[in-house]
Amino acid sequence: RKPWFCAGCPHNTSTKVPEGSRALAGIGCHFMVTWMDRDTETFTQMGGEGASWIGQAPFTNTRHVFQNIGDGTYFHSGILAIRAAIASGANITYKILYNDAVAMTGGQHVDGSLTVEQMVYQLKGEGVKRIAVVSDLPEKYARDFPKFEGLSVDHRDNFTAIQKALRKLDGTSVIIYEQTCATEKRRRRKRGLLEDPDKRVFINASVCEGCGDCGVQSNCLAVAPKETELGRKRVIDQNACNKDYSCLKGFCPSFVTVTGATLHKALAVSTEQNFPELPAPPSCGDELSEPYNILLTGVGGMGVLTIGSIIGMAAHIEGKGVAVLTQTGLAQKFGAVSSHVRIAKNQADIHGVRVPAGKGQLMLGADMVVSSAEASLACLDSSAAVAIVNNHGSPTADFTQDPDAPFPEQAMEQVIGAATRDAHFFDASVLGTALLGDAMTSNLILLGFAWQKGLLPLGKGALEEAIRLNGVAVEANLQAFLWGRRLAEQPGKVKDLAGLDTLTAAEQNAEAETLDDIVSYRATELGKYQNRAYARRYQALVDKVKTVEQKLGAAELALTKSVARNYHKLLAYKDEYEVARLYTGGEFAESLNQQFDGDYKLTFHLAPPLISKRDPETGYLIKREFGPWMLPAFRVLAKLKFLRGTALDVFGRSEERKLERSLIGDYERQVDQLLSALSVPNTSPETLAVAIEIAGLPYFMRGFGHVKEANITTVQRRGMALMKQLKGESADPEQVRVVNIQEPERLEK
Ligand code: SF4
Ligand code: SF4
Repeated sequence: RKPWFCAGCPHNTSTKVPEGSRALAGIGCHFMVTWMDRDTETFTQMGGEGASWIGQAPFTNTRHVFQNIGDGTYFHSGILAIRAAIASGANITYKILYNDAVAMTGGQHVDGSLTVEQMVYQLKGEGVKRIAVVSDLPEKYARDFPKFEGLSVDHRDNFTAIQKALRKLDGTSVIIYEQTCATEKRRRRKRGLLEDPDKRVFINASVCEGCGDCGVQSNCLAVAPKETELGRKRVIDQNACNKDYSCLKGFCPSFVTVTGATLHKALAVSTEQNFPELPAPPSCGDELSEPYNILLTGVGGMGVLTIGSIIGMAAHIEGKGVAVLTQTGLAQKFGAVSSHVRIAKNQADIHGVRVPAGKGQLMLGADMVVSSAEASLACLDSSAAVAIVNNHGSPTADFTQDPDAPFPEQAMEQVIGAATRDAHFFDASVLGTALLGDAMTSNLILLGFAWQKGLLPLGKGALEEAIRLNGVAVEANLQAFLWGRRLAEQPGKVKDLAGLDTLTAAEQNAEAETLDDIVSYRATELGKYQNRAYARRYQALVDKVKTVEQKLGAAELALTKSVARNYHKLLAYKDEYEVARLYTGGEFAESLNQQFDGDYKLTFHLAPPLISKRDPETGYLIKREFGPWMLPAFRVLAKLKFLRGTALDVFGRSEERKLERSLIGDYERQVDQLLSALSVPNTSPETLAVAIEIAGLPYFMRGFGHVKEANITTVQRRGMALMKQLKGESADPEQVRVVNIQEPERLEK
């Protein structure tokens, strides 16, 4: 797991640089930018920020750089670096992130911190001629804030424009990006020291195209993947979301904000009635003639260390010997965390705190990725160890940059299975959310499961007492421990109650979709999208492909399946009528009710092409807020779908809609070309493979507006190169100009 900025962290936005510029990293959190594909390289010690540029500037053609620096570093010694830059005359813009905490090490206060106002005066005194304050709440600076030439205050939405303006200046300029650390905000909100905004973000997964733009815009790990019949979509992980709202910049109509809601309460399951007294577990630990070795694995913030402490305390209560060693690394930033716990009859029996390599008997895995890592598995005794792992698909950092980043659950399960005598996998996060209303209880579910399986050499009473002594969410944690025990005895019943799929990843994979499944689902959807004739048009092309492929003897019908999926995607382009239908068809309301309770209100974030303004910087349409009245408006609009494609279809006149309609005809012609190519005698498997890839390209034409347009351009380049390959001609995808995918001949002409 690559450590990453927290959900809603201001660094996610403050470290962006405009196209054509580059930046230098800093110390602490700012160092992490160097692995984020943000044109940011090199770092220095505190107080050396920009010094390398001072030396380099006279000898390069680069005119200007940005330098990241935190407010703590600024106060410690960064001001000296800025003074040196001013003296040198180098062209540099310092981006001081004023996040009001020492975030990397756990949110300590910045010693002797300055206010933004004091900082502004200090910088002016040092001779900085241009200072721009950027904030998520610029209204804070509307009154009683210094005003002088060269000082501006703006919303963070204008951040790119400000950076572009400052990079043109000579000498040293400064941007103070003011937004409190997201994790610190969460802490303050929990302690009642900061107002918790009554506004949550929700994604309508039916509207979502899985383009990943929200991940790119926000860099946020609380924007999580959701695998569906129609591909990977996005959801907001409400437990992880810190409400900074930068994901709303994702260019699509899938986002709503919800006010007046609380998170949906847990299932009201009558536990006593449904679950009789559980049997005693098998005995564990062979009377502890040797220390019993447990490895706990997870990611920072998941409560792994708490579980280590609870086990350690329980052993202590029973008068046993115990050692707990925690390795936190970049735990504050989604980095891997592990705890080595050793339990013995007497303290003197433990000669080292680490679990010796190959001696681990139990692994409690809060995270699949960390649990399947080599370092974790090397601890385990493969002939004796048992792994109990939460297989919840927590997104990795790669997912924020790559919408198709894989989460190879099955492969990870296999690796863990091979390194252990026995392994149990279940989605403890979903169980915790469904049964107790909080995914943070998942580790206690793992613990209860392990205890009931006889994998902990400790008594129930001691563990429960340790949970009480831990003093946090005691009742929920005791319940979670109990649910874990029940899961060990009656997995089917517990999973059913929680609405969890009872199939393992391997079983789900084995249950591959048939062509009939794929086609009948989509044909039904197209009937709802437009009408039955539209569905028949779909069915006819799929049948035609199937006939040709069957003649080829391709038993898997991979080409037909690909056409079935991708032709549907093009036919069901999400115009105004369809978006309206997907908001009013019932599924959206149901998914909202599963997530929220209360008498909540919705705000929609849309950029209808016909009425939206364009951003002067980017030329892209700007999203606007629309109130709850949008829902009745959507209901009317959804009913007007019969106008789609007719002379009265005003929405259909936009360039985007025209392009979407033309893609359907293009694809139909392209499939005909593929079938001709496959109809020659002795078609090779390679030719079929290329045809399948071409047929699958529309999957990547995803998103809305400029995002979709850019994706279509990329896909068409690839499509043209593949068509050439299909014909046995040589083509370098990088060299191919964009032309109509169906008519590569145009290029030659
Ligand atoms: S509002 Fe969006 S960007 Fe902000 S923390 Fe939540 S999911 Fe992440
Ligand atoms: S359509 Fe794209 S930007 Fe919108 S929610 Fe889905 S992945 Fe995010």
